[in-house]
Amino acid sequence: MGKLRVTVWNEFRHEKESETIRSVYPNGIHQAIGEGLGTTDFEISYATLDDPEHGLSEEKLQNTDVLIWWGHKAHGEVQDEIVNRVYDRVLHGMGLVVLHSGHFSKIFKKLMGTSCDLKWREAGEKERLWVVAPGHPIVEGIGEFFELEHEEMYGEHFDIPQPDELVLVSWFEGGNVFRSGCCYSRGQGKIFYFRPGHETHPTYYNENVRTVIRNAAKWAAPTTRDYPKYGKAATPLEPIKGYNG
Ligand code: ZN
Repeated sequence: MGKLRVTVWNEFRHEKESETIRSVYPNGIHQAIGEGLGTTDFEISYATLDDPEHGLSEEKLQNTDVLIWWGHKAHGEVQDEIVNRVYDRVLHGMGLVVLHSGHFSKIFKKLMGTSCDLKWREAGEKERLWVVAPGHPIVEGIGEFFELEHEEMYGEHFDIPQPDELVLVSWFEGGNVFRSGCCYSRGQGKIFYFRPGHETHPTYYNENVRTVIRNAAKWAAPTTRDYPKYGKAATPLEPIKGYNG
């Protein structure tokens, strides 16, 4: 198998507006995520909100195996036409890894069918992420748990459908808990939601976070099966006896 073609999508607005965020992610959050993936197994490209068609043309998506999504303050500016295009690609097998505040992106909400709302607090508190599916490929190389010294808190209740597989659960210093690593399948596509990654913290440089994202991209890789045939199936596989309708 060749390298997986991963497109990292970032809203890429806040880094341009805020010196504080730029000091953490000088080249944008997408570049830090891409660096973390590395080029051994992946062919990485980038797309941002302000690119034409948000960088997600038909052709680009056709040539993407796994799309990684980070956004937080301009979800409403993502055109519905592009959201529908991404949605269709997911149903046809493209993997999707949604990070942090991407929980409120149009594409994630459309795929989940729920509000995807949650509790949050910006207090730079400690987060401890516990592995709750030790045999899962997404947590290969991760210990029983890992910690992030300072993160934004996301807390339950998180209004998502029950995940097909729950891989990570977070505990926060302030007492809240959260389902931090959630697997879904929609059509032929696999979706992973991964919680950490607030823009003022250097989370995407953390080795454990990078390992999870790398593993998730591999897990979400498309299979090569044909898309199922739907609709009228007029010709039976065997003759149907005793019916002349
Ligand atoms: Zn955040």
